[in-house]
Amino acid sequence: MVEPLRVLFVASECAPVAKAGGLGDVVGALPKALRKLGIDARILLPRYRFISTYGMDRHIEPLAVPLGTGEAWCALFETTLPDSDVPLYFLEHDAAFDRSYIYDPPDGYAHDNCARFGLLSRGAFMVSRLLNWIPDVFHVHDWPTAATPIMLNTCEDADPFRRSASVLTIHNIAHQPRFPASDLPLLQIGEDQLRPDSVEDYGRINIFKGGMYHSSMLTTVSPRYAMEIRTPDGGAGLDHIMRFRGADLLGILNGIDEDVWNPATDRAIPAHFSAQDLSGKATCKRALQQELHLANDANVPLIGVVSRLNSQKGTDVIIDSIDELLALGVQLVMLGAGDRVLEERMRARSLNSKSFRAWIGHNEALSHKIEAASDLFLMPSRFEPCGLNQMYSQRYGTLPIVRAVGGLDDTVENLDERTGHGTGFKLQELSKKTLVETVAWAANVYKNKKPLFRKMQIAAMQKNFGWSRAAQSYAEVYGWALQRKRGTAFSTTETNEDYSRYAVN
Ligand code: ADP
Repeated sequence: MVEPLRVLFVASECAPVAKAGGLGDVVGALPKALRKLGIDARILLPRYRFISTYGMDRHIEPLAVPLGTGEAWCALFETTLPDSDVPLYFLEHDAAFDRSYIYDPPDGYAHDNCARFGLLSRGAFMVSRLLNWIPDVFHVHDWPTAATPIMLNTCEDADPFRRSASVLTIHNIAHQPRFPASDLPLLQIGEDQLRPDSVEDYGRINIFKGGMYHSSMLTTVSPRYAMEIRTPDGGAGLDHIMRFRGADLLGILNGIDEDVWNPATDRAIPAHFSAQDLSGKATCKRALQQELHLANDANVPLIGVVSRLNSQKGTDVIIDSIDELLALGVQLVMLGAGDRVLEERMRARSLNSKSFRAWIGHNEALSHKIEAASDLFLMPSRFEPCGLNQMYSQRYGTLPIVRAVGGLDDTVENLDERTGHGTGFKLQELSKKTLVETVAWAANVYKNKKPLFRKMQIAAMQKNFGWSRAAQSYAEVYGWALQRKRGTAFSTTETNEDYSRYAVN
């Protein structure tokens, strides 16, 4: 019998146990969909302080992970991803991971992130050895685990990993911490890698960059973003590598977890609804208006925002435009955390406002309530690798107002009033003027063209945003990665769904 393809996700985040953004959503959902295709997908994460190991199995064998000139002694815990059969491993090392944050403390920097995530990246190999489960593919995510592909080509290039390939998914090319060159020995990847076509970046170490050179295949999270990062405007200084590796770079649109984000079953919202019966959505709107002390008005357009607060997301332009937006006769609810100045401006503007509410911080339940209650969802990102909230919104019949960029452009169809087709409203350039004009257009359709708005809602809710399509594409990418690593030839154009054939031993 042929063994199923083995894929180890090595990641810094995984929803719902540890999530800072969309990366965590992908790692928490894609392995489930891959297992449905017969792929043995598993996940390795750090055991952060907020993750309880209560009830998990602890592996009793000692686990030493090389780090610098010594070894870091770790523990390994095993459980399964909630509501799934996906094995989920936690690498425990208190000095590195027993912290209340994933990347950096609030208002500061963790100065040892090269060591922390270097430990996780190398830990992937030691954990595989300990489990006697050698992955065919290491699937790594953004800079935190980009050292794994480098290690696979350097300090771990011998048996048992000689035939293992790597796939690096770029969730956001702009996040590229640089570490001092003196950190390089920590990773044990050799001084010779301190060169511009590996980790060296103007005298410092850029692990993400090195991973881009060393991975067997590269993916990113939408087709449009895969094009944008090949350009100087979108490549955050690494566009030349994206062009160099262009033949190995593929954009695969993220799916969403349709079980978690389902208005017919969502436990966080006060009433359920579907494309066939939208009446529960009105109940959700009334409940949110009540909860946030907004006027109880079924006809006022309610606009939601759920976002990290930073310039990527264009939330600064939303905050600049609040007066003009409210003058359109809308209610605006913003949930977000991030940039302290933006947080403060939101808080101040929210005080005594009749129709604007700000909620500062991370609040999973409120994010569901906002998606369910709002009529429109605002997401005018300056760049957006994929974006999830515009997909959640469409699923909840909440029409997104987005900038035509990256995954937002790929997943939202702009309303064409002549044909009545569309699931949202798009602006091209981002400015106060274009933002207010586009919101005015959307509010007008909501108020004065109700049948058209309803038709758009139903079209949006009926779209397929599940993971199965993406999982098929990733399975093909794993095949190509193995082909590059092993030089084995097989057809990638067959539609045969038996992906075990990729596990050529
Ligand atoms: P990014 O990964 O760039 O932050 P995405 O749209 O891809 O953006 O994913 C963001 C995820 O984080 C979504 O699941 C969104 O609902 C969630 N999110 C962002 N900010 C908050 C918040 N303040 N409270 C709750 N969830 C949030």
